[in-house]
Amino acid sequence: MHWFWRMALSMVVTCILASPFAVFVDDVFPVVMKLTRIIGQRTTVFILGVIPSMVCSMSIYGLLTRYCGPEIPFDGETRCRKCLYILKGITKPRCPECGERI
Ligand SMILES: [Zn+2]
Repeated sequence: MHWFWRMALSMVVTCILASPFAVFVDDVFPVVMKLTRIIGQRTTVFILGVIPSMVCSMSIYGLLTRYCGPEIPFDGETRCRKCLYILKGITKPRCPECGERI
């Protein structure tokens, strides 16, 4: 799966998971109201909204990358992004196998 679709899917799933909390957060959690009075609304939104959303989104993206991502071997070699040819000892900025510009 392409990185764009993994990112888009992780953002959609995060929005679906976070939407009930976004609607009821003021009514359900009095702690949020206390925290808002103490540290301010923007900081509260950042701590309780942005950080968990980022963690959730990155976790889903990581899982999708692990199970549906590109099958690039992690052997420490520099490879062509198109054909995965090992780019060792090349003199021109092009892949000798497929011609992809590096
Ligand atoms: Zn190539």
